[in-house]
Amino acid sequence: MRTPIVIGNWKLNGSKAMAEALVAGILAERPGLSDIEMGVCPPFVFISQVVAQAAQAGMGVGGQSCAEHVTGAYTGEVSAEMLRDVGCRYVLVGHSERRTLFGETNAVVARKTRVVLDAGLIPVLCVGETLEERQAGNMNAVVGGQIEAVVDAVGIQAFDRTIVAYEPVWAIGTGQTASPEQAQAMHASIRAQLAAHSPAIAQAVRIQYGGSIKPDNAAILFAQPDIDGGLIGGASLNAEDFLVICRAAAGSLRLS
Ligand code: PEP
Repeated sequence: MRTPIVIGNWKLNGSKAMAEALVAGILAERPGLSDIEMGVCPPFVFISQVVAQAAQAGMGVGGQSCAEHVTGAYTGEVSAEMLRDVGCRYVLVGHSERRTLFGETNAVVARKTRVVLDAGLIPVLCVGETLEERQAGNMNAVVGGQIEAVVDAVGIQAFDRTIVAYEPVWAIGTGQTASPEQAQAMHASIRAQLAAHSPAIAQAVRIQYGGSIKPDNAAILFAQPDIDGGLIGGASLNAEDFLVICRAAAGSLRLS
C-alpha cells in the first residue's frame, strides 16, 4: 500500500500574511487527513516561517528548486543543504517551468536530484511531455528519457527515497487536465520502466499526477491504480480547494 501524497507548489505567489493564513487554514483540517502525506512548497523566503507553523502539525515543507552545486560563488542560488538546514523535507526537481523557462536539461535535473539526495531530502522528480510531443506520439519516449537520465545518475536504489510527479506540460496552469486514462497510462508506463530496473522499487515508488488538478477532478484521477496523489499548483493557493483535493486523496485509499 502506497501512502498518497499531496504537495502544493505555490510558485511565485504569496506574502508572509498570505502564507500564515493559508497554512493555518490547511492545518485546521490536518488531523482528519492523517492517512495521507501532505506538503507545501512556498517561495524560499517564506520557508522558515512555514516550517515553524507546519512541522509539528505533520505537514512537510519543500523547496521549489535548488542549486545543482553544494556551495560556492553562485549568486542567487539556494542549496539543498540550506533547505535541509531550515527544515525542508522535499525539493521539487525538474519542474517543467524550470526546464522550459530556466533551461534545465535532463543532465541538470539529474545533478540536482543527486544533491537533494545527498542532503538527505526527498526529491520530487517532475517529468512530462509538451503538447507537440504528445501529438507526435513521443510522450512515452520523452518521459522515459527524463526518468532514465536520473536513474543513470543516482541509481535505481535512490528511488526508494524519490517521488515522481508526472506533469504533462500542456496541462500545467492551463485548466486542461490529462484524462484519467491518459494519466493512468503514463503512470503505468513510468512504473514499468522502473520495474525493469527493480520490481520492488517500482512497486513502492509514489507517482503523483500534476496538471490543473482541481476540487472537481481530483477524485477520479486519484482513483487510478498507479496515481498516488498530486502535485498541485493553482489550487494549492486556496486552503479549501487544497483540502478538497487532499480529502480526495484520502478517499482513494478507501477504494484500493
Ligand atoms: C504545477 O505547477 O506543478 C502544477 C501542476 O500547476 P497547476 O496545478 O496550476 O496546473
